[in-house]
Amino acid sequence: MAKLVTILVIDDEEFMCDSCCKVYAKDGYRVDIARDGATGLQKVKELNPDLVLVDLKMPGMSGMEVLEEIKTIDPNIISVVITGYGTIDSAVESMKNGAYDFLPKPFTPDELRLITKRALERRRLIIESNRLRQEKDKMRENFISMVSHQLRTPLVAVQEYFEVILEGLAGEVTEEQRKMLERSKTRIDELLRLIKDWLDLSKIDADKIVNKLKPISLTEIITKTSDLMQTLAKQKNITLKTDIPENLPMILGNKETLEQAFLNLLDNGIRYNKNGGSITVKAKAEDGYVAVDISDTGIGIPKEELPFIFEQFYQIKNKKTQGIDGTGLGLSIVKKIVDAHSGTIRVTSETEKGSTFTVLLPKEVFRNEATDYTD
Ligand code: ADP
Repeated sequence: MAKLVTILVIDDEEFMCDSCCKVYAKDGYRVDIARDGATGLQKVKELNPDLVLVDLKMPGMSGMEVLEEIKTIDPNIISVVITGYGTIDSAVESMKNGAYDFLPKPFTPDELRLITKRALERRRLIIESNRLRQEKDKMRENFISMVSHQLRTPLVAVQEYFEVILEGLAGEVTEEQRKMLERSKTRIDELLRLIKDWLDLSKIDADKIVNKLKPISLTEIITKTSDLMQTLAKQKNITLKTDIPENLPMILGNKETLEQAFLNLLDNGIRYNKNGGSITVKAKAEDGYVAVDISDTGIGIPKEELPFIFEQFYQIKNKKTQGIDGTGLGLSIVKKIVDAHSGTIRVTSETEKGSTFTVLLPKEVFRNEATDYTD
């Protein structure tokens, strides 16, 4: 059975409460009253009303304070202020503080009905949009889990079979068969890399990043990610070094996703580098920001391609990139992460000489002790 629409009237005037109750009861709403702010808030918690009418001028707790508290109890509850003509200015002020509308006293039953109808329609829209958002999140989660289980798992199994066969554990393999199997294995590796990058991109939830920002050290992130990439760099005869000043200011960030962003940039710096090349990661404090340059001595990026490289699935196809594996998702993942940190990423590049990707992340500013950084 659908929940009855519940309206709470908070007003110290008995006559006002009675009049509203009569109209609402006649129209089939569930209605309750409170004669002061504190009792009103208690009832807001107990009844979880759809709409609250709040008188601005009450002895004790003011209507304005009541409004603020209602927002903290449940921001989706609609509040309408009832007020005398003398306090119209404060009514406007109260709307800035989150009230949906105001109703000047005295008002007729029809005026009350009209404003109630509008406010309840607003409430319906808020609830509906919350429901749709939740549904969208759920569909996204289901899709992510479908991709990882139904696509990734069988591919990994096939890859394992290839390895067993290639190692000769299932019988002798001719040279021709070996070549074909190795080519198939490479194609499956590419597909798995695409699925991994796509999953990484889908899992980045900008809202979750914004809500989980904490003061963190970029020095730690740069050192950790550079250490992790050393083996791959050495395999390609590339020198990877860092240049980080002492006392680099903290930033407000999300460690996990920033590590992922730097890993992607370093991975690109290695894959698009030349044999014997180098990568330098240099951090410095700037006005309000910490800037990190990731510079490589690789193949560089043609000027006309620069505006597109952060787009999803965009890959530069030319002679120099031939034979370099990629999915076109690495930089779009980086950009999504940097954007969620209110940061910026820019790039300068010269073909044959190399590229520098610069990530700017806002410095952690002094916050009072009440700031809560818990997960
Ligand atoms: P991919 O998986 O193809 O590397 P990215 O989104 O990471 O996808 O990069 C997009 C394109 O930008 C790449 O195809 C590559 O041509 C170019 N690119 C990215 N980083 C570099 C770099 N450090 N040096 C040269 N080209 C780069």
